[in-house]
Amino acid sequence: MQVTEALDVAAAAARIVGDAHVERDVWLADATGRGGSAPVLVRPGSAAEVRELVAWAYGNDVQILPIGGATGFSGGIVPVFTGPGIAIALSRVNRVRAFDPLLWRIEVEAGVTTATVQRLARENGLIFPPDPGAAEDSQIGGNLATNAGGPHAFKYGVTSHWVTGVEAVIAPGELVSFGGPIRKDVAGYDLRSLLIGSEGTLGIITAAWLRLTPAPAQASPIAAGYGSITEGVDAVNAALASNVVPATLEYLQGSCLRHAPPPFTDASGMEFMVIAEAETGDERDALLEALGPGAAVHDPRTLWRWRSGVSIAVRGAKGEKLSEDIAVPLDRLQEAIERTLEIGERNGLEATSWGHAGDGNLHSTFLYDPNDPEQVRRLERAAEQLFELARELGGTVSGEHGLGLLKRGQLQGQWSDAAIGAHEAIKRALDPKGLFNPGKKVPRSPD
Ligand SMILES: Cc1cc2nc3c(=O)[nH]c(=O)nc-3n(C[C@H](O)[C@H](O)[C@H](O)COP(=O)(O)OP(=O)(O)OC[C@H]3O[C@@H](n4cnc5c(N)ncnc54)[C@H](O)[C@@H]3O)c2cc1C
Repeated sequence: MQVTEALDVAAAAARIVGDAHVERDVWLADATGRGGSAPVLVRPGSAAEVRELVAWAYGNDVQILPIGGATGFSGGIVPVFTGPGIAIALSRVNRVRAFDPLLWRIEVEAGVTTATVQRLARENGLIFPPDPGAAEDSQIGGNLATNAGGPHAFKYGVTSHWVTGVEAVIAPGELVSFGGPIRKDVAGYDLRSLLIGSEGTLGIITAAWLRLTPAPAQASPIAAGYGSITEGVDAVNAALASNVVPATLEYLQGSCLRHAPPPFTDASGMEFMVIAEAETGDERDALLEALGPGAAVHDPRTLWRWRSGVSIAVRGAKGEKLSEDIAVPLDRLQEAIERTLEIGERNGLEATSWGHAGDGNLHSTFLYDPNDPEQVRRLERAAEQLFELARELGGTVSGEHGLGLLKRGQLQGQWSDAAIGAHEAIKRALDPKGLFNPGKKVPRSPD
């Protein structure tokens, strides 16, 4: 039965995109390492082919899984089909359709990587600020689908702030555009924003118009080390009180500084590091003063390359790690950091955290051995306790990675029944057959 379904879906897909772009029985995993098998993976070459694939799949009750650069942290691309299914990878839908540097805008297809957009902008004296850490692999479609953030989101905002138009294929197979190369548009409901962050559950994004902005005069990251969490959080508060809006306001706490030692400073004995990036000379002077005597400016390339690699280095320390992305109100940041450590201790797991201090967004991390079932059980308990903590502190279970497969059902407790009902009504309206990325992001627990 499974084989016949796979062959039918594959044969239909091959008629649309050609045999060379269809694969059978493909293992799909994201940056969490969790994966699953998709009976058919297809790589269309244009938005028109995506439309044809979706129209065929929707008409034949075939479940649809959009695949970007596979760098997500919530299991969003892990196949959990409950019937015939097709994974649609956007990597070949990757043209730059228009680039107007003098008007600070670019239109790219979903499969263009984040790094490509950043490079094109930089070469023309501009920046595209959203900077999730795996930019060489992550795609603009995936950035939109997860509404990705990154260190520079503190000053510049997350991906949605930089999107003026979204082109997408929605049910039952229509290619639509919401917005375009226009900087203001309040004519209709804001469906552009609705698709952003929808994690592939409302349709497939095929292209986007993005805003760019002139590059700042300088990018001077300042790093400072502290001996305790209290001193470090005080420094974050001092930076905020300095009346400068740093481009980034990041922190790293505890053992991550040992597992991923910074190449630009001696971090031994350091319990907490703050990184604030200045964009003018005045900002640099104000931030150096706010962060105290140990603060120093470092080479941005060296510092940010190291910062991007922290997650991977920590993962290697014990075999595996779970990094969550809870966000809390700023006045609860210290408590969230300290109680992450308490949760680790209570469950016998090494814990550490880093993240976007200025946004109150923590990557609370627990290290574990994936081959030890007892540690895996304790890890699951720790994750539940962390989500409880986020809710208790008035925060959210996800500040940037989305719910995906791993956190589905976690909105219960955070939202009222009526709020969850509105969420479900939108899903039913745009995806009446429930075929787009099934089993993901659903607000109620599927169990
Ligand atoms: C080292 C590292 C650091 C990271 N740092 C950050 C960070 O600082 N901030 C942050 O927010 N994230 C971060 N991430 C997570 C990740 O990079 C982002 O979420 C990224 O934007 C995902 O893009 P992707 O193309 O890889 O999407 P994928 O992982 O392929 O997909 C993610 C989700 O989006 C859906 N999707 C993908 N493409 C489309 C499309 N075209 N249309 C509709 N749905 C689609 C998928 O179905 C899935 O549900 C990091 C990841 C790594 C590995």
